Amino acid sequence: MKHIANFVVTLFILISIVSCKNETKKEQKEIQSTEHTKKGTDIHWSHQKGEDGPENWKNLSDNFTDCGGNAQSPININTNATSKIDSLVAIKFNYGKSAVTIINNKHTVQFNITGDNTVKLNGTDYKLLQFHYHTLSEHTIDGNHYPIEVHFVHKNSDTNFAVLGVLFEEGASNTLLAKYLENFPTSKGEFKSKDSIDILSLFPENKSYYNYKGSLTTPPCSEVVNWYVLKNPLTASKQQIETFSKILNNNYRPVQSLNEREVHVYNQ
Ligand SMILES: [Zn+2]
Repeated sequence: MKHIANFVVTLFILISIVSCKNETKKEQKEIQSTEHTKKGTDIHWSHQKGEDGPENWKNLSDNFTDCGGNAQSPININTNATSKIDSLVAIKFNYGKSAVTIINNKHTVQFNITGDNTVKLNGTDYKLLQFHYHTLSEHTIDGNHYPIEVHFVHKNSDTNFAVLGVLFEEGASNTLLAKYLENFPTSKGEFKSKDSIDILSLFPENKSYYNYKGSLTTPPCSEVVNWYVLKNPLTASKQQIETFSKILNNNYRPVQSLNEREVHVYNQ
């Protein structure tokens, strides 16, 4: 009887230890995942549908909650619903020639810019940081995607960015793509160019634009962006579009609800 009693006590202690260990493990796991979620810097996210895809970005990190906000980008621009306002003026470019480093960061191909390139947009000065590409376009016009969209990312302060978006349609070969497409890193990596690029030459002649307030189109999706989507597209050849699309692999975020926002238009 004593033996049995001893055995029961021992068994009870053993079970307690095991369950306690499990509990601790569980807690540690929870703490780790919370820390991982909160940090937000190393969070894996993707443009493709799935657990880490656009629909779930807002759940991947406490830093990504803006991705579920009411002023997100990109949007569909319904040209019939845009309005003219007198306060909008022409974009004033102060761009020079700049050396570039071309980076493939697995989400896009990006040209990092050195030097002092600025734009004045409706009274505010912004400095150009980089430009990068999406295939298909992120913004749609009257429901239609274009094959490519380039984003020129400018910053005034941490809470005030301006992105100029330029769409590409199929047509004549694009000079910049002709020059650099074969050097684009096809996987994660970078290419330093010795040439200087005349940044303004990368824009269409006519700089009429659509303007609205939105967000970064990738996590953390911060709602700090004044968007200027140029009305007039550039062209790229069929082959350039195909080659580039293979590298970028549908790196566009689906369009987001406009909600209470208005899209204004400035015609040059
Ligand atoms: Zn972009």
